[in-house]
Amino acid sequence: MGKVPKEDTPGAGNLSILTKVDKLRELIGTRVALPQLVVVGDQSSGKSSVLENLTGFGFPRDAELCTRYATQITCRREAQESIAVSIIVNPDATPDSRARVKDFHRTFTELSPENLAKLFTEANEAMGVSTSSWVVDLNATPLPAFSEHILKIEKLGPNEDHFTVIDVPGIFRQETQVQDPRTINVDPATQEILKLAKKADPAMTRTMAVLTKPDLAIEKATQQIAIDHVLGKRGDLTLGYYIVKNRGPDDVDMTLKQGQAEERVFFSNAPWSVLAFTGKAGISSLKQRVRELLTDLIKKEFPKLKSEVSKELAIVRAHLEEMGPSRSDQHMQRAYLNRMSEAFQAVTRDALTAYYTGDELFSNRHDLRLITRVVEASECYADEMLNNGHTRPFLTDKDHGGDAVDEQLEDSSSCEPAIEDTPSISEKQGIDFSAIAQDYPELEEIFDSWNGSKDDKNMCDIMEYIEGVYKSSRGQDLGTFGNGLLGTLFKEQSRKWEDITMEHMSVIIYHVHCFISEVVKSICPDPRVQEELWNGYLLEELMASYRRAMDHAKFLLRIEREGSPLTLTHSFSQNIEKIRTGRLINAIRELSVERVEYSEYESVNQPHENYIFLKPSHLQNLNINKGNAKHLREHMHDLLSSYYRVARRRFVDVIYQQAVNHYLLFGEKSPLKIFSTEMVLSLNEDQLDMIAAEDAPVKQRREKLGRDIDNLVEALKVLKGSR
Ligand code: GDP
Ligand code: MG
Repeated sequence: MGKVPKEDTPGAGNLSILTKVDKLRELIGTRVALPQLVVVGDQSSGKSSVLENLTGFGFPRDAELCTRYATQITCRREAQESIAVSIIVNPDATPDSRARVKDFHRTFTELSPENLAKLFTEANEAMGVSTSSWVVDLNATPLPAFSEHILKIEKLGPNEDHFTVIDVPGIFRQETQVQDPRTINVDPATQEILKLAKKADPAMTRTMAVLTKPDLAIEKATQQIAIDHVLGKRGDLTLGYYIVKNRGPDDVDMTLKQGQAEERVFFSNAPWSVLAFTGKAGISSLKQRVRELLTDLIKKEFPKLKSEVSKELAIVRAHLEEMGPSRSDQHMQRAYLNRMSEAFQAVTRDALTAYYTGDELFSNRHDLRLITRVVEASECYADEMLNNGHTRPFLTDKDHGGDAVDEQLEDSSSCEPAIEDTPSISEKQGIDFSAIAQDYPELEEIFDSWNGSKDDKNMCDIMEYIEGVYKSSRGQDLGTFGNGLLGTLFKEQSRKWEDITMEHMSVIIYHVHCFISEVVKSICPDPRVQEELWNGYLLEELMASYRRAMDHAKFLLRIEREGSPLTLTHSFSQNIEKIRTGRLINAIRELSVERVEYSEYESVNQPHENYIFLKPSHLQNLNINKGNAKHLREHMHDLLSSYYRVARRRFVDVIYQQAVNHYLLFGEKSPLKIFSTEMVLSLNEDQLDMIAAEDAPVKQRREKLGRDIDNLVEALKVLKGSR
């Protein structure tokens, strides 16, 4: 053995780098990959034997016993000789499992085989792993074969060198460690295992091979291959090949010390004695090299480790921050909910004023840009009402008299027949109610409250229809008809309004609902609170407010369609006058006998025009050609057409202003106002407790985050040298 560094002298103040790593391993070993050596190799290739020799800690010879969990063996120089055994608790284990192992402590002054056997039996029990794999009790619940905790064995004494190894059960279980770029592999030279090592260390600069069982190599050729490897004549490992001889299965009575003495004798004899100058034969050479490597590795990795721990600390702190302060009494619970409601109202305010730079939620989720969605949907609705709202197309300008009706130009499309099988407004907006109902089954009730009825396709044209209505309801007085008739005609002409409007309301409710649901999710990270708040409180109120909005839309529909036609709009009578004038012009045009182009009246800038010539005798035929009934039908059509336009514009606006804007967005009882400070204040103690109290998993998570933070802070102190 080379000289022993004087780093672990008690009271030396500054901890050695190896002690620091030991400390870090306990504090943050499960969170951060620490620089370490990993031993990999085939079953029974001698890994445990090598580790035993390196640490001087003899595992029970019954190998089966200690392969159920990682075992960390730390040797440290202390004045007093002792062996302390405890269990390093995996912080991610269940509270139950943590509690069972937390207090496991055993101390020995001497390691007798009896002590060892007892120790491992007790440790297995605490870890909750089955002690034996060969006794299978089919009736018993099988215990897990492996434990997630680590058995920690500290071997202290005046002659110990600082050394820590971890023996892990099974080579594949710790694959992440194998692939950890900070590990050095100490490994027997089987081809298979070198391939595995190559995966973790492609350049093979961090892999060291350890050949075992040289005493079993009897053939000269086999011995020579091993010797060539150690001499560096074969293989491509930067760190080279080492060779050790451990105790064999028959050396049951041999102590570790005796075994090591025997090894020295073994390597001093031919053919192995040629290796003496290499410093690569024997356990003490290996131990010295491994310590050097480990120290170098740790020194190299420390700065990186520091930044990694800082990063990790920031993450854990953010997690805890996210959970908000703890909620143990009703004041804290109320404050907690209130903060959430304020956050909700702030995001909602931004969403309603299109202030989308306010919250990053909006940059990721364009579907949450609420007011934009609502305006888009409302425009789509207005278009639909204009183009397809009427049951039968009105006659066009040309049908009744030229270009007199200016206002109608804007609405010209309303004179085209409504095309059957055009997509509905929700389809036009890419909204599929049945898909939505899967995500938000609660909305099904809203969607089901109206049902898209199909129009009968074989409809007569509007004049025939008017005539039919007129005939079936005329009284004795041929020349007049009551206001009731216009009401009947209008109701029929606006039959599709109900479906279009209800569909539109459903679209808006979907946007609002989706917005509220997503925002609640984003401001309430605790899934239990979210669930309780949503299902236990908000949802009911939201549904009530959606129903109010739907009911109001139905109310507006009823008033508009079933009440008497009413309007104070001037344009209404002006419109009728214009239509009538148009008809007159049309009639006159029909009477005209000649159309002469008076080219001398044309100037360069004036459009080409026709002039109508009438003889007075022609005028006698004016209007007389039309029977009273036809005259009335036309009059009714004009009246209906004028009134329909006024009513449609009014209705679309009122739906927008009242049913959408007031009932769904800005009104006092709109769904967006439900999750507010007032709501939080109105909750009684029981409701508060129900929604906002912390349940056991949350408390545990909070505690665990607290522990993690403490450990990371402590680890950072170790890394910065202040511990
Ligand atoms: P592991 O499964 O890789 O941990 O292997 P162990 O260290 O448990 O060893 C398996 C068996 O090989 C045990 O019976 C050891 O006594 C034996 N063994 C290990 N190294 C040597 C050695 O160098 N020479 C001899 N003869 N036997 C050895
Ligand atoms: Mg083993």
